[in-house]
Amino acid sequence: MARIIVTGGAGFLGSHLCERLLILGHEVIAVDNLFTGRKENLLSLRDNPKFEFYRHDVIEHLLIEGDQVYHLACPASPVHYQYNPVKTIKTNVMGTINMLGLCKRLKAPFLLASTSEVYGDPLEHPQKESYWGNVNPIGPRSCYDEGKRVAETLAVNYRQSNGVGAKIVRIFNTYGPRMLFDDGRVVSNFIVQALLGQDITLYGDGRQTRSFCFVDDLIEGFILAMNKPGFFGPVNLGNPNEMSIRELAEAIVKLTGSCSKLVNRGLPKDDPVRRRPDITLAKQELGWSPKVDIQSGLQKTIADFEQRLKAGEKPRDITAAV
Ligand code: NAD
Ligand code: UDP
Repeated sequence: MARIIVTGGAGFLGSHLCERLLILGHEVIAVDNLFTGRKENLLSLRDNPKFEFYRHDVIEHLLIEGDQVYHLACPASPVHYQYNPVKTIKTNVMGTINMLGLCKRLKAPFLLASTSEVYGDPLEHPQKESYWGNVNPIGPRSCYDEGKRVAETLAVNYRQSNGVGAKIVRIFNTYGPRMLFDDGRVVSNFIVQALLGQDITLYGDGRQTRSFCFVDDLIEGFILAMNKPGFFGPVNLGNPNEMSIRELAEAIVKLTGSCSKLVNRGLPKDDPVRRRPDITLAKQELGWSPKVDIQSGLQKTIADFEQRLKAGEKPRDITAAV
């Protein structure tokens, strides 16, 4: 059994990863500054003696011991990463240098949670790992997508120059229980709006596409990538089931039995038109492919949101956090 460090461990994906690693019998240390993460995400793990939470900002040095590092710390929703773009870049650059430096000292493997956003508004469809992307270096998404591109460069350079077993996974839109109500990403926005009977806000005409992966599938891919010796990626992890944002809205309205209307709002600048992963490499190298279809994934997510709304959870003011 290993002692595993998960940066961003109090966030949406990080908390699911911590939970799964504990089930597998490992010790887990979640490192998080609680910008978009919540201690509530870790409530069920709190009393497990194999689990520790460490409040820490990864842009500062971290002196800690462990056998593996999953590096997820970084706000993921456009609303959150654009709130303080310079901080987002610092998190991706200085935070990634610090965690790679930690792995160099520990001689521990490292896994970077990169993103499909490294492909920008892609001109190639579906996106293969060999595609270099179409990214605006000075646009509103650049603090995140250029930040992640530098983080990937750092991972490769630390591997080549410093012998760190640094791996890269490129995550495509992933959803599931524990997303924040005010996360700003599309699945959480639409579910909250549908459950509260509010208008469903389609940005633009809603014909832009995404491919949505359920969180449990993604976490399985993370663990397979971390534990495959000699495999470093980058590898796409996502569900190739592409749909338009309008289709997603219609599915959520139907599953919630909501009376909400679909309304159109302005399309954010540089919003990618189409996104779908080519997962041939993940299938070949990791034997991984997603299992959960959109209907059942949405049902599980809706059930979680309903239960939290009933329990009185309110959207948080993230501007008060950091
Ligand atoms: P999230 O916002 O729920 O989680 C991010 C976590 O990182 C939060 O707990 C936050 O408090 C923490 N964090 C942010 N800055 C930090 C810092 N400087 N120091 C320490 N902790 C910090 O988002 P998520 O969806 O769980 O995403 C996790 C990772 O996966 C991110 O790196 C994101 O870029 C990547 N990713 C996610 C998706 C997705 O669809 N969910 C897609 C692509 C990439
Ligand atoms: N979107 C939308 N309504 C919302 C939130 C998002 O139509 O209330 C759209 C957004 O413009 C984008 C897609 O949904 O085209 C996915 O947005 P999200 O922020 O979830 O992820 P990303 O753009 O990073 O893929």
